[in-house]
Amino acid sequence: MSVIFADAWLITMNERREVLEGASVCVEKDRIVAVSTRQDLERRFPSAEIVDCKGRIVMPGMVNTHTHLFQTLMKGLGDDMVLKKWFTCMTGPSGVHLTPEDAHVAALHGCVESIRSGVTTLVDFMYVHTRPGMIKAVVEAFDETGMRGFVCRGFVSLGLEYGVPRELIEEPEHAIGDAREQMRRYNKPGARVQVGVAPNMIWAVDEKGYRLTRKLADEEHALITTHVAETTFELQTAASRYGQTDTEFLSEIGFLGPDVLAAHCVHCKPHDIRILKQHDTKVAHNPCSNLYLASGCPPIPEMLMAGVTVGLASDGPASSNNHSLFQAMKFAALIQKGFHQDATIITAEKVMELATIDGARAVGLEKEIGSIEVGKKADLVVIDFNNAFMMPIHHPVSAIVYSALGNEVTTVMIDGRFVMRDGVVSNVNEQAVRREAQIHADDLARRSGSDKFKKRPWRSMAI
Ligand SMILES: [Zn+2]
Repeated sequence: MSVIFADAWLITMNERREVLEGASVCVEKDRIVAVSTRQDLERRFPSAEIVDCKGRIVMPGMVNTHTHLFQTLMKGLGDDMVLKKWFTCMTGPSGVHLTPEDAHVAALHGCVESIRSGVTTLVDFMYVHTRPGMIKAVVEAFDETGMRGFVCRGFVSLGLEYGVPRELIEEPEHAIGDAREQMRRYNKPGARVQVGVAPNMIWAVDEKGYRLTRKLADEEHALITTHVAETTFELQTAASRYGQTDTEFLSEIGFLGPDVLAAHCVHCKPHDIRILKQHDTKVAHNPCSNLYLASGCPPIPEMLMAGVTVGLASDGPASSNNHSLFQAMKFAALIQKGFHQDATIITAEKVMELATIDGARAVGLEKEIGSIEVGKKADLVVIDFNNAFMMPIHHPVSAIVYSALGNEVTTVMIDGRFVMRDGVVSNVNEQAVRREAQIHADDLARRSGSDKFKKRPWRSMAI
């Protein structure tokens, strides 16, 4: 099957960063085979189906480099809380009561939400394994919706004293053994969905956990992701336990490398940034979550200046309340401008790079996805800019980063298959997914006791 996306305003994200007006893209099977004029492509591919993209922007599918899909069921329950309470009173207990059915429904909804906001690759960090079958539940949701990405087998090996529920704590050997088993099951060459491994963070994982992770990733050539320097608490625990920052510690034990995707890095010092660059370790930047949980403003401009690869992310919806990368793009720009009181510190174009080609590099897929170029996978997003928010329009990148709400995405293709067409999600019944998600969200809140946050009193002042 061939498809021509015809007459679009094309944001290619190729090496020359060409933005082409009235351009067309031809897809055959799962690959982009040509970028040219409509006339030329119609002549060369006469049997191709035409998707008319006049008045539309076509851009590469976005890469969300960090989320916890199961938290899709927890939107709004943790609002306006300090992080410790957010974790011990809501997210932790919800994790304890999560079933694989909940995880599956949450992931289905999270994937649909992502597709609707132009995301074609997701990195899920799944650290709840109180019952068997959690990874399978999430992988199946990727399969059903057509999503591309990584389902990372997370784990927690300590942290009882900090309020981590006992049920979530696992022996590192057990977690790594399970991760290896899942990798061997799913990580076939060229698979659209791959399993990675994800030690949670410095105060919740012991040294053995990190060392075993490194060994596993080396043996299985798998993606590693972990939280780094998200809050000052991480730095305090790292300092008291190891006498150094978490970045320094992870470097010293040989954990860091180009296959490590470090989420947050809010409190990385200049020395830490140099270490990240030295190891070519990648960063997942979660601007909405960092603000929501009051973690701080990460030194993204400093990382970019140092040559560190940074991808964009939503984080789990318990701390960002949706999976919109449109919101993440706008916040990524605004947080830096406001914090530095410098409007030039980051540009709309750079933010677009973080969301696409840099995100692809962050997960090691820059040769396959992240731009519209001949030979790459056909992961494409069509945006209808004929609406009140994006019009009048002068520059498509500016309109997407600063003006769009995200619901302007009309059509999404992943791996050459339509996963949404003219506003209709293709592979699953979206209404049914949403209905099920609400049922599971209500039930999980009731079982975990966090339904008290649903009927919270009106609180004009801080709690
Ligand atoms: Zn996270």
